[in-house]
Order: sequence, then structure tokens, then C-alpha cells
Amino acid sequence: MLFKDVPGLQEEKKKLLDSVRRAHNSHAQLFYGLSGTASFSLALAYAQYLACKNPGDEDSCGVCNHCKQFQKLSYPDLHFSFPFARVAGAPRELNCEYFQKDWLEFIDKRLVFGLNDWLNQLDVANKQAQINVDEATRLIQKLNLKSYSGGPKFIILYLPEYLHPSAANKLLKTLEEPSDNSIILLISENTERLLQTITSRCQKLYISRPSEVELREHLQSIGITEEAARTASSVAQGQLDLALKIAQDSDRYLSFGRLFQNWMRGCYSAKVKEIFAFVDEFAALDKESQKEALRFFLQTLELAFSKPRMNGSLQHPIYQNLSFKLDGFASVLHTLNSKTAYDVLEQAIHDLSRNGNAKIILSDASFKFSNLLRVKEA
Ligand SMILES: [Zn+2]
Repeated sequence: MLFKDVPGLQEEKKKLLDSVRRAHNSHAQLFYGLSGTASFSLALAYAQYLACKNPGDEDSCGVCNHCKQFQKLSYPDLHFSFPFARVAGAPRELNCEYFQKDWLEFIDKRLVFGLNDWLNQLDVANKQAQINVDEATRLIQKLNLKSYSGGPKFIILYLPEYLHPSAANKLLKTLEEPSDNSIILLISENTERLLQTITSRCQKLYISRPSEVELREHLQSIGITEEAARTASSVAQGQLDLALKIAQDSDRYLSFGRLFQNWMRGCYSAKVKEIFAFVDEFAALDKESQKEALRFFLQTLELAFSKPRMNGSLQHPIYQNLSFKLDGFASVLHTLNSKTAYDVLEQAIHDLSRNGNAKIILSDASFKFSNLLRVKEA
């Protein structure tokens, strides 16, 4: 991964390059930011830069043997760690070694991803994921090995907030004094859940979400038409993974938009027939689409809440296409009901991901919404 292939994040790249130039980069670094940012890809590009035999001022050379190995994810001293859950047929003592092949295939196609994408890939989306103490032992062993490449050894640890406390404690000493020429990069989406003993041992870099313009430019650079890129970047609000999904399948999101429109109209007018028509249509979607649709609804709510802060009319290409007046919808959301509306949707997403019955969950959410939308602002 070259820096130039990681969309946006100009400031972050500059900080990393500066720290290398001035030899101020620590052996343990924590990249943290909201989900949907390209932190993982940035860490990979940074590791490649450190391993590159002929790095330029702004990027790896891309042609030395280390760069070539990085491009194929086959640099022998690059180790990945990530949350996982027990899968059928797995050995009793389980660590990330068992999942390496799946993981490499998974990250190879993706610039940005979330934990859910990964757990879905393993088909364990409903299980509790963690990084266990066996895995911490494996990582320490990896770093104690001699470097095969002659270059630095890396651990890229995705979501350290999922470290079991005993695993986290086991890693503390390694974070403080890793073996020679070892670099540990932690990628976190929620530093509040990290032990302070971990964060205090790392150099920290905040990873921002890309701006709408950066997102649009990136989408166009990978061959998406200007119109689709414009729609996706304005809807996704800085979430690269969502922008990609929308851009690659805009019809699907248009149909989610239509569903939301029908749903909210049914709820607002409290027409039971319309509400059940929505519930039936929603329940007929496959499980993944249901979750994706709900996340998109949540996104729409966020945009509607942001209206008072934006002091202007709401631009949302998908809803403009549908002639759903988001401005009008935003005006029935206010301080009294907006937080609760958000909570109702989040709860529905949570219940669905625990394999709840879609019809029951959405009927329940509909009646809550119906009441909420008719709460008058004081
Ligand atoms: Zn190189």
C-alpha cells in the first residue's frame, strides 16, 4: 500500500513522514479515529514506508523487494492481529494464526472496513469477538524471532479495544520495550475502551474522516462517474466504506431511501396499513440488506438532526431524487424527540444483529416512531 493509494488524510501522512524524517517515530503507535476511516490502510502504507529500501520524501519507492512483498501482503515480518470468535471446527487453543488466510483475503480487497464486515466474513457476526491471551503470546513470540527480511518487524493490531484484559496486560511489557527493530501499530476506533496502561505507552495519531471533496475525488479516481461520486460522498458524511457501497450500488440505496420515505410517512400519519406494508417489504430483504438499510436510515436521521447546526436547507441527493422533503422531515425532529428517535433505530440494529425477528422489531420501532414524530416541540 502506497501513501498515495490511501484516500485523503494529507495531514496525517505529513505528520508520519515528518516523524520519520526527524526520527521521532515511536516503536508503539496508536492510530485512532471514528469507524469508516482509512486508518488500517494508512498503517499499512506507513509500515511499507518504514520497510522500503529506497523511500522518497513522500512515499515508498514501490519497486524494491520489500515494497513488492508489501503489495502482495507477503512481507515475512508483517504480522496481523484482530478480534475473532470461535468458528466451527477450530482447535481448542485458538489465535489469529488460524485466520491468517481469511484475513489476508479480506483486507486485500478493502481500503476501509469495519469489524462487522470481518465478522460477517467469518460467519460469526452474532458472537462476541475478542483478542485472547493465546494471541498475545503468539505476538510476543513473533516479535522475538529474528527478522527474516533483514528489515523491521511489524505487528498491525486492529481494534486493541477487543483485547481481553489478560491479553492486554501480557502485551504491556512488549509495548514498552519491544525487541529490536520491532514496530507495533494499534488501530483503534474507541480509545475510551482501551486500558490507560496501553494508551500511555503509545505515540498517538488522530485519523480524521475525509472531507466530502476528498471522498468525491477518491471515488472519481477509481472510475466512479462524477454524478454517482457526488451523491455517494454527500450522503456518506466522511465514511469511506459507506461512500463506496453507495457509489457502487446507487439503485440499492435509492430503494432504501424509498423505504425510509414510506416508513416515515406511515408513522407520521399513523396509518397502520402503510406501516405494515413497510414492515413486510423490509422483512422480505435479506439479513445483510436489512442491517445496511437501517444504518442508512440512521445516517438520514443524523443528517436531519444536523440541520439546525447547518443553518440551511438539507441537501441529500437520494431524497431529492425521491422528492422526499428532508427539510420538512427535519422540522418534526427536535430536541424533544430526536435523541430518542436515534436510540430507537440503534436498538433495532442491535436487535437485528442478534438475530431477532425483523417483523417484530420493525413493528415495535414503527409504533415508537409514530408517537415520537407527533410529539410537539415545547
Ligand atoms: Zn520500496
